[in-house]
Formats: sequence, structure tokens, C-alpha cells
Amino acid sequence: MKLPKELRDKNDLTRVGKVKTCSVKGCSENAIRSLSENTWKKYLEKAHLKFEENRFHKIYLCKAHYNQSNKFRKSQEKIYRKKGFLENAAKKGIREY
Ligand SMILES: [Zn+2]
Repeated sequence: MKLPKELRDKNDLTRVGKVKTCSVKGCSENAIRSLSENTWKKYLEKAHLKFEENRFHKIYLCKAHYNQSNKFRKSQEKIYRKKGFLENAAKKGIREY
């Protein structure tokens, strides 16, 4: 089955364009990072940033938005670390009793 010509042209257009722009809605800065949508979606949500999804499942972020999302990533990691520490401490406590 052959694709209609218009459709093929459209696909070609989306593939071109080496300079990625920020995926955040309303932002047209050049992206400095290409990030996995699965990993970063939640951080963008925390930062109240809406982003345009693409078929590569990538989030492209400009410097400002990357910094903004990265703040939430870091704070989340801190929580995990703290939690792990507390769990270890609790286990230790049980063993001591
Ligand atoms: Zn941006």
C-alpha cells in the first residue's frame, strides 16, 4: 500500500529540523537538553509546566525550564535518600530490641 504524497511530505517535515525547541507550551527557546518523557514528566508536572508530547517520548528543555524541573528532581532524590536512611535506622532499631 502506498502512502498519499501529502502524508509522506508531512512526515519528512517533522523529521527535519535539527535544532530542537523547548517542549514547554508557550516557550520557543532552543533546547539544551533532551530528556526521557517517562522520567521527567513528573518533575515537569511538579513545576507546573505543560509540555508538548512528541512521538519520540522525549522532552526538550531550554536552560531556564531545565533548571526549574531539575530543582524538583533534586528535591525528590533528597526525599528518597532520607526515606532510605530512616528505613535503615528503623531496621537497626528493631534488631537492637
Ligand atoms: Zn523553555
